[in-house]
Amino acid sequence: MEDRIHSLAHHDCDSGASLQHSCSLDPSIACERERPQEVVAAEKASDSSTSQNGYIHSIETCGTVDGPGLRYVMFLSGCPLRCLYCHNPDAQGKPHGEIRTSESVIKEVLRYRNFIRRGGITISGGEPMMQNEFVHDVFRRAKAEGIHTALDTSGFLGHRASDAMLESVDLVLLDIKGSDPKTYRETTGVALQPTLDFARRLSDLGKSMWIRFVLVPGLTDDETNVRGVAKFVAGLKSVERVEVLPFHKLGESKYEQLGMRYQLGDTPAPTSGQVARCREIFSTEGVTTH
Ligand code: SF4
Repeated sequence: MEDRIHSLAHHDCDSGASLQHSCSLDPSIACERERPQEVVAAEKASDSSTSQNGYIHSIETCGTVDGPGLRYVMFLSGCPLRCLYCHNPDAQGKPHGEIRTSESVIKEVLRYRNFIRRGGITISGGEPMMQNEFVHDVFRRAKAEGIHTALDTSGFLGHRASDAMLESVDLVLLDIKGSDPKTYRETTGVALQPTLDFARRLSDLGKSMWIRFVLVPGLTDDETNVRGVAKFVAGLKSVERVEVLPFHKLGESKYEQLGMRYQLGDTPAPTSGQVARCREIFSTEGVTTH
């Protein structure tokens, strides 16, 4: 997708050999130089006026785990789920906290352009699809700058992701927290089906996906549950990577600070044997895990 957008940008500027040479050095500068100043100014003004507001939870400027390469990771607040192992319980509920415009976010991302040139920007949460228009606008602007985009989502609000929005997403990091509706509701507080529907839609669109499954002893590690996820993932067409993430309690102290009850206090991290067993189940269904 990134290559395609780059080549389109070059094509837009392609009015002569010398210009094409300039484009290959810096497409955005060359494009603006060749176009009437009043057109560029009008577009910039309308770009500012259409800038969307978003509620931000936090930002990590050098993320290494939420997509390929080094990434600018923006965590949005707001989430309708209540995952028992959530690391950001303060992001749950309605979007709240610091407000940023999509325009200001991209300006900041561009300051890290050299660092993230083999990576990109990831929007995570919370559940980013609670603020779908903001996400779309940030990704639209990122793609216009040739930056790789990744959406980290539970898939529960996948119906809010329009096809136009998904056009601006290069990669979806999709958490599938279970295959059994009862286990899924126990783990997250919501229904499983919307996530499965979103995964199938992404597969039909040929959208690149990384699937993530969190292994929690006594909660998601039941063989039927794991095998169900593995079978489902095996049936998807555009999965590039599957990650088994062993449960840990890094977020526990936040619950205390917020006066919330942490229900997994007595749950141990999975042993290496349990993780290996989980990977083996995926493997027997033809799915390689990382
Ligand atoms: S989807 Fe993410 S942010 Fe929302 S409750 Fe679950 S772990 Fe927390």
